[in-house]
Amino acid sequence: MAQKQSARTEKECIFCRILAGEIPSEILHRDDLCFVIRDIAPVAPVHLLVIPIQHYIHATGEAQDMEATLGHLMSVARDMAKSEGIFDSGYRMAVNQGPDSGQSVDHLHLHVLGGRVLADEG
Ligand code: 5GP
Ligand code: ZN
Repeated sequence: MAQKQSARTEKECIFCRILAGEIPSEILHRDDLCFVIRDIAPVAPVHLLVIPIQHYIHATGEAQDMEATLGHLMSVARDMAKSEGIFDSGYRMAVNQGPDSGQSVDHLHLHVLGGRVLADEG
C-alpha cells in the first residue's frame, strides 16, 4: 500500500486518533470501512467528514480496495445526507488532495456539505 503512512505518522494523525478515542468527537456512523464525524469548523449547516478506517492519504492511492472504498464513502455520504435531512435539497461531496487543494489532514476524507445554497465556492 504505497500511499499508507508509517505507523508513527498514523499515531499522530488527527482522524486516526479520533477513531482510537484519543481525541473526543461524536462518531455519527461507523462500519467496517469508514466512520463519520462532524467537521470541527463547519462551513455549512451540515458539514460531515466521511473517513476510511484505513489511513490512506489520497484518493489516488494504489491500495487494491481503493475503488471499493471510494464507492463506499459516497454511499455512506448519501445515507448520511438522508439522515441529516439534506438529501432532497442537495449537497456537495468534496475531496481535497494535495497542497494546492488546501488538504490539511493527510488522511483521505470526503466532505459532505449542505443545508444552504452552496454557491460557486472553489
Ligand atoms: P481538509 O482541509 O484536509 O480537506 O479537511 C480537514 C478538515 O478536518 C477541516 O475541515 C477541519 O476543520 C477538520 N478537522 C481538523 N481537525 C479536526 C478535529 O479535531 N475534529 C474534527 N471533527 N474535525 C477536524
Ligand atoms: Zn489517519
